Amino acid sequence: MIHARQAKETLTAIEMLHGDTLKFRLRNGSEVPIELLDTGAAIIETNLPLPLAEDRKGRTTYRFWADLRVDGREIRYEREVGTDKSFYEPLTVSGVNIWLDAVDEIFAFILETHGPCRLNPTCKNKPPFYFQARIAVQDATLRICPEPVHPWCPLPEGGLRIEMCYTGEDCWMGAYFGASAHGGLDINHPKGTLLYTPIDIDEQFLVNSVAHGWTNNRWHGIRHWPDHSTWVLRSAHMVKQLVPEHTPVRAGTVYAEGAGVWVGQAEHSHFAFSALDHGSFIRLDPWILFWQMYQDLEA
Ligand SMILES: [Zn+2]
Repeated sequence: MIHARQAKETLTAIEMLHGDTLKFRLRNGSEVPIELLDTGAAIIETNLPLPLAEDRKGRTTYRFWADLRVDGREIRYEREVGTDKSFYEPLTVSGVNIWLDAVDEIFAFILETHGPCRLNPTCKNKPPFYFQARIAVQDATLRICPEPVHPWCPLPEGGLRIEMCYTGEDCWMGAYFGASAHGGLDINHPKGTLLYTPIDIDEQFLVNSVAHGWTNNRWHGIRHWPDHSTWVLRSAHMVKQLVPEHTPVRAGTVYAEGAGVWVGQAEHSHFAFSALDHGSFIRLDPWILFWQMYQDLEA
C-alpha cells in the first residue's frame, strides 16, 4: 500500500505493513519514498525462568529492527529497549528524521499487560493481525511541533538513563518484571516534584483519581494542532493537581505535584504520549517529546 503524507508542523505518525511505502513530501517539495521491507525482534538478555511470566526479579532487554528502503537506499534500522540506548537519536536520511518506535515481533516475547503500547490491529481476518512497524517521521529542518517543548519535569542532566526508570527497566515498552511491555516512560524523582505542561494544552482532566476510588491519579492533556493532528499527553502518580480541570493551560505551567501516589518500589512519574494523525490513534514513545525538550534546552 502507498501512503502519501506531506510534512506538516507536527511530526507524522504512521503504522505500516511489510511492502508498504510512505511517500513523504518535504517542505522543499521533494518526495522521499520510505518502504518497509521487513521487521524483526530478539531478546538480548533475560533471566526469566519461564518466558512471558512476570517475575519480581525478572530482567529482559531486547532489540528490534526494521529493514527500510529510503530514497532507494537499503538500511537496517536497529533499536534497543531496556538499556541506556532506549533514549535514541532519530535516523536522518534524505532530509527526513525517522523514529522507529516499535515492530510487531516484540510481542512474541513480551506481553501487553502493563499499559497499552502494542501496534494497532489491522482488523483483517487473516494474518498479519497487527501492523508491523510504527514510525514517526518529520522533515529534518522542522521540530516535532511548532512551539518549544517545555521540560515536563526537571530534566536529568546529561539525558535519561535506564536506571532512572522505576527499577531500571520501565522505559517505553521496557520489560516490566522481565515480561510485560511498559506502556509509558517512568522517571524517578521525589514525591512532590513539580510537573509542567510541555506545550499549550486545550483541555485537561483526571481520567482516574484516588479521590474517586481508583488506584492512581491519571491525567490527560489534549492539544489540537492547526495542522489537524491531536496529541494526548498523559501522566500518572501525581499527588496533587494545581490547575482546575477542564481549563486550557499554557505551556510551562506547573500543573501538578508528581511522583507520590501508588508508586510501588520507587517514587516516580509515569508519562505517555499518543497522536491522532490522519484518523489513526498512534501511541508513541514519550522519549520523542523528551528528545525535543533536550534539544530545546540546548538551543
Ligand atoms: Zn509507569
